[in-house]
Amino acid sequence: MKSVLIVEDNPSSMRLAQDVLTREGYQVFTARNADEGILLARDHMPAVIVMDIQLPGTDGLTATRLLRADEKTHPIPIVAVSAHAMDDDRTKILDSGCDEFLQKPIQYQEFVRIIADLAGDGRTHTDRSM
Ligand code: MN
Repeated sequence: MKSVLIVEDNPSSMRLAQDVLTREGYQVFTARNADEGILLARDHMPAVIVMDIQLPGTDGLTATRLLRADEKTHPIPIVAVSAHAMDDDRTKILDSGCDEFLQKPIQYQEFVRIIADLAGDGRTHTDRSM
């Protein structure tokens, strides 16, 4: 069974994403902050990470850079989600090393499709963290 790690501090966003991915057949790990998420990523090596950008403490962009800088977690695809989506935010998010970006509220069909693509094929873009 493929696994997905969700890093999300908002309980209702977490529950929705968790329900959708569980129903799609993924094993789901959950973290409410970046530090916990990074530990779970190293321990479980999920097929994909869903990363909320606005998190208490370490934010999702910083967490993404840390995951990309770690030789173990470096290859795990990351889907960023954020309520804030100015065009330059999007650029900043993708430059941090995220593979995909979704604006909240999440469109769940698109969400599921992106997760499936990334879980099946690994990272789909050229490596932005280099
Ligand atoms: Mn948040």
